[in-house]
Amino acid sequence: MKIGAIEAGGTKFVCGIGDEHGQVAKSITFQTTTPEETLSHVHAFFQSEHIDGLGVGAFGPLELDRQSPLYGHITTTPKRHWQHFNLLGALKDEFSCDIYLDTDVNAAALGEASWGAAAGHQNCIYITVGTGIGAGLLVEGNLVHGLLHPEVGHMLVRRRAGDTFSGCCPYHQDCLEGLASGPAIQARWGEEASLLANNDAVWMLEAYYLGQALTNLILTVSPEKIILGGGVMQQAQLLPLIRREVQTFLAGYVEKRELGQTIDQYIVDPGLGQMAGLKGCLALVVRGSRSHSPASQ
Ligand code: ADP
Ligand code: ZN
Repeated sequence: MKIGAIEAGGTKFVCGIGDEHGQVAKSITFQTTTPEETLSHVHAFFQSEHIDGLGVGAFGPLELDRQSPLYGHITTTPKRHWQHFNLLGALKDEFSCDIYLDTDVNAAALGEASWGAAAGHQNCIYITVGTGIGAGLLVEGNLVHGLLHPEVGHMLVRRRAGDTFSGCCPYHQDCLEGLASGPAIQARWGEEASLLANNDAVWMLEAYYLGQALTNLILTVSPEKIILGGGVMQQAQLLPLIRREVQTFLAGYVEKRELGQTIDQYIVDPGLGQMAGLKGCLALVVRGSRSHSPASQ
């Protein structure tokens, strides 16, 4: 099967061609600008390819309710050009094959469960910590949508005593994303996050907030694996600090080896590395074509 994949991120788009085994034959990355310009690059990449299906993992918020007239639209994004953009409609005009659409993070979670760190699991969470914070949830084998889709990045967290940074979420100020995203780190400490590698206080505070988020997710969703990706997680010292905070916040309440001795294999880096999102789009097609449920019908 020849599968097209589009990881439609708010900062960059990645397009690829791959197969049902998660192998990517070729890919291209370009900046996300206006919808017109960005989709013209998509068009150029796929122009001479005859694909059997297209998987799209998109930034959001994204309307995924099939009954809604706005199905497949990006909705309230702060990215002005993309507000209320009919992404699925634009792709349907371009592609005659079946299209399978989900959030970028749900796609990544499915990719990791298909071929990566959560292979063999029916319950996992993929969290990205980058320009924003978001998570894809696979629960009992299903990607969670519900009312909209989970917006884990905006969960409320307990502020650490003495942290006076107001937070940078335009909606909530000091939600998780407002306190712990890449831009929040930069606003709080006055330097871009990747330049703060040697400042231990930065990563201890970061782990304090992300540790709370993971604790809340463990207690509500009960994942069998938690995968952390995104630019900020490139700080290798952060993951062990997060594991420790999770153990502190849980305080021994959940008696499972995964939260004790084997926590290093429970809260992990993406098994698919930087390819989780793109391979996840391939996985959307593999899964969707089994249940014959394309978004484009
Ligand atoms: P996006 O979330 O836009 O798709 P990324 O996942 O690369 O893209 O996240 C970008 C954010 O990650 C920026 O805020 C940047 O400061 C931060 N970042 C990128 N690389 C690193 C790094 N090596 N260490 C810490 N933070 C980083
Ligand atoms: Zn928020």
